[in-house]
Amino acid sequence: MEAQWITALQQRIGKERVQTGTADRHSYSYDGSFGEFLPEAVVQVRSTAEVVAVMETANAFLVPVTPRGQGTCLSGGPLPVKGGIVLDMSQWPSSVDITPGDLTARVSPGTLTAAIHAAAEEHGLMYPPDPSSAHVSTIGGNLAENSGGPRGLKYGVTKDYVIGLEVVTPEGKIMQAGGSTIKNVTGFDLTKLIVGSEGVLGVITAATLKLIPKPPAVQTIMASFASMETAGEAISTTLTSGILPAKMEFIDQACALAVEAYQPSGLPTDAAAIVMIELDGNEESIQVEARQVSQIMKELGALEVIEPKTPEAAAAIWKARKMVSPAIAKIKPTKVSEDATVPRSQIPAMTARLADIREKYSVSLVVFGHAGDGNLHPNILCDKRDQEEMKRVELAVGEIFEAAIELGGTLSGEHGIGTMKSSFMEQELGAVGVDMMRRIKDAWDPNGIMNPGKIFAEPGQRLVLTDE
Ligand SMILES: Cc1cc2nc3c(=O)[nH]c(=O)nc-3n(C[C@H](O)[C@H](O)[C@H](O)COP(=O)(O)OP(=O)(O)OC[C@H]3O[C@@H](n4cnc5c(N)ncnc54)[C@H](O)[C@@H]3O)c2cc1C
Repeated sequence: MEAQWITALQQRIGKERVQTGTADRHSYSYDGSFGEFLPEAVVQVRSTAEVVAVMETANAFLVPVTPRGQGTCLSGGPLPVKGGIVLDMSQWPSSVDITPGDLTARVSPGTLTAAIHAAAEEHGLMYPPDPSSAHVSTIGGNLAENSGGPRGLKYGVTKDYVIGLEVVTPEGKIMQAGGSTIKNVTGFDLTKLIVGSEGVLGVITAATLKLIPKPPAVQTIMASFASMETAGEAISTTLTSGILPAKMEFIDQACALAVEAYQPSGLPTDAAAIVMIELDGNEESIQVEARQVSQIMKELGALEVIEPKTPEAAAAIWKARKMVSPAIAKIKPTKVSEDATVPRSQIPAMTARLADIREKYSVSLVVFGHAGDGNLHPNILCDKRDQEEMKRVELAVGEIFEAAIELGGTLSGEHGIGTMKSSFMEQELGAVGVDMMRRIKDAWDPNGIMNPGKIFAEPGQRLVLTDE
C-alpha cells in the first residue's frame, strides 16, 4: 500500500506525475558527482501552484523534498540523501520572456541556460553567466548553485545578473524577492541569499535576469608554455597590464593529451600549460589589446602564440577547451572534479601544491580551469570500485581543500558544497560563520524538510568516497 503522503500527492498533482516505480526512482538517484541515493517518490512539477501543493503536503507529513534541475551538479546537491521526494523541475515548460527596453528576461526554472543565451542574442543582448554545462543545465540549478563560467572573469557569475526571484518557501508560501529594477535596496537582500543556497532554503519558481548589450567583436589568443610557473606569470602580468579579458582559461599537458586522444583539435601536446584568452569589445580596441597580450605572452617565454584569423578557427579552440571534461573522463571510470579557488597571485603556488599531492598519493590528477579568476579544476581520475585507490583519492581531495584554504582561497568557486565538501566548511568559515548559516536555515525551514543533508555536516561527518 502507498504511504499516505504519496496518495495525498497523487490527489493534488495527478498520478502520472507522481512516480514511485523502481526504474523511475533509480533515474533520479544520481547527479554529476558519484553518490547514489534512492528517493521514495519523484514529483514532476510544472507550475508554482504545484510546488506549493508538494511543499504543503511534505510539511504535513514531514517528508524531505530535494529539488532537481537536470542533475548535472558536481557536489551531490540534488541527491535525496534522506529519501522522500525528488522535485523534478526539468519538465516545467521552458520560457524566456525578454523586455528589450529594460534589458531583462523573465525565465521559468526549468529553462536551459543555453536557451537564455540564444534568446538574448536575438535582441543583440547577452546573458553573461556561461557555465560549461549551459546546454544541459537549468537556470534553476544555476541560481541554486550560483554557477559561473569562463566569462566570470570580466562579467561575474549568476548572482550578478539576478534582480528578482519567485520562491516557494519550505513551508509552501510564495515569496517575491527583489523585483524588476537594477537598483533595489528595500530590506534585506533575500534574492542574493537564495542564489547559491543549493536548494536548502526554498524552490525557485521564476527569475528576472539582467542582460547587457552583446559586445560587437571578440578575439581569441592561445599561448603555450614550457612550465606552469611561466604560464602563471603570463596570466598575472596580463591581468595587471590594464587589460581585462572576457575569458582566461588554462589546461595542463595531461588535459591537452586527453583532448587530442579523444577528438584531435590541434592543441599543442608538448607544452606544460596552454592559456586560452578571449578579448571582447569594439573591433579597434580589441585589436590593440590583442597585440599587447600577445606581446606579454612572448616576452614571458611562450613557446607559441596563436591568434586565430577566422571565427571558425577561434571556435575550434574553445571547443577543444570544452572537450577537456569529456576527454579526461575517458581516462578512468570515475572522475572526482574539484573547484578549489585561490587568489590569482597564488595560482603558481596552488599548482605546485597539486603536483606534490599527485606525487604523495600517487593519484592521476590533471588540472584545468579559469585561470583569470583563480578557479582551478583539479580532477582526480580513478575507479570507485577500487577501495584502496579511493582511500588515497579521499586523502588527496582533503589535502587539496586544505591547500586552497591555506593559500587564502575557498573550497568551492563554482560547484557548491552539497554533500561533498560539508565536512570542510568550518575550516574555511569558522564555527561562528557556519552556526550563523545554520540558524538562517533553521529559521527558513523549521521542519528541516528542504533538501536535508546538504551544506551542513552531521556531527563527526568527514569526506568519504569509499563504500564504508
Ligand atoms: C560537464 C559539466 C560541466 C560543468 N561546468 C560547470 C561550470 O562551468 N560552472 C559551474 O558553475 N558549474 C558547472 N557544472 C556543474 C553544474 O552543471 C551546475 O551546478 C548547474 O548549475 C546545475 O544545474 P542543474 O539544472 O543540473 O541542477 P541540479 O544538478 O539538478 O541541481 C543543483 C542544485 O540546485 C538545486 N536546485 C535545482 N533546481 C532548483 C530550483 N528550481 N530551486 C531551488 N533549488 C534548485 C538542487 O537541489 C541542487 O542542490 C558542470 C557540470 C558538468 C556535468
